[in-house]
Amino acid sequence: MKVRGPWIPCLFTFWMAQPHEGVILRVGMALSKPWIDHFLVGPLQMRCSVVTDRASGDTIIIDGGDEPQRIIDWVDGFRGVGPNWTTGPENKEVAEQQFAPNRRVVALVNTHAHFDHSGFIPVLQAHYEVDWFLHPDDDYLQTLAQVSGRKYGLSLPEPAVADEPLVGGEVYTFGTIELSVLHTPGHTLGGCSLVLSTTDGPDHVFVGDTLFAGSVGRTDIANSGGDFEVLARSVHTQLWPLEDTTVVHPGHGPITTIGHEKRTNPFVGEPAGGAGNFGFGKYA
Ligand SMILES: [Zn+2]
Ligand SMILES: [Zn+2]
Repeated sequence: MKVRGPWIPCLFTFWMAQPHEGVILRVGMALSKPWIDHFLVGPLQMRCSVVTDRASGDTIIIDGGDEPQRIIDWVDGFRGVGPNWTTGPENKEVAEQQFAPNRRVVALVNTHAHFDHSGFIPVLQAHYEVDWFLHPDDDYLQTLAQVSGRKYGLSLPEPAVADEPLVGGEVYTFGTIELSVLHTPGHTLGGCSLVLSTTDGPDHVFVGDTLFAGSVGRTDIANSGGDFEVLARSVHTQLWPLEDTTVVHPGHGPITTIGHEKRTNPFVGEPAGGAGNFGFGKYA
C-alpha cells in the first residue's frame, strides 16, 4: 500500500489546514541549520537538493531527476559518492560522531518537469513510497520526459505522474519541514520556487531553472510554455521581495543570493534597468 507523505497545504497559516486521512499532523516551522545536500546529476549536471531537518531526520528530495541510486545510497546510509556540496555530515564517520538521526524521506518535490529534473522520479517513488509534488501546469510537459531524454541519448523510465499538486502561495508541511511555494512561470508554465526558512541563518530558495547566477532559464524550449516577459515578472514579483540574504539554489551552475542577483543579474536585475522592456522595477 502506498504510504502518504505527511504534508499539509494551507493558504495562510498551518492551523487552518484540514489534514487528509492518514496524514500525521505536526507543526512545521523554520529549521535550525538544516542539512542541504547538492547532487549535480546526469549529463546536464542538474542540481538535486536534499533537505533534512537535523533534529527529526525528516527529509525531502527536490528535483531527483537523475542518478537516483547515488541519491538513495547517501540519503539512506551516507554511503557511496555522496553530494557535491553539503551543509550536513561529510561522511558516515562524521554523521556517527554527531549522532545523526536516520533520514526519513517524507516527500519528493519538483521545481518543474523538464526531464533532467524529473526523469528518474519513478525510481525514487518506488523506493521511498511517498508522494511526488508538481505544479499541475507542468503535467503535460511531464508526459514528454521520456521522449525529451531520448534526444540526449538517455533511456528514462515511463514518466512519473504527480501524486499531489503544488499551489503557488501555499505553505506545505512535509513532516517537520515547511516550504512556501511560489509559482514562478516563464521557463515552464508550472515552474515553482520553494522557500525554506531557517531560525539561525539565511533562508533558502530552490528556484529550478527560473534564475541562475548571472543568468536566467531558457524560454525557448519546446512544449514548455516559456516566455521571457512572464519569467521576468515571476522574478520581480515573487523572488525579489525575498530577503537579500536568501541563498538561491538554481537548477544548474553556482549558488548565489537574491541580493547579489538583484544588483548584478544582466537579464532581470538592476543592470537590465535601462535595457529593453524588462528592466528592474517594471513589475515592482
Ligand atoms: Zn528546465
Ligand atoms: Zn534544468
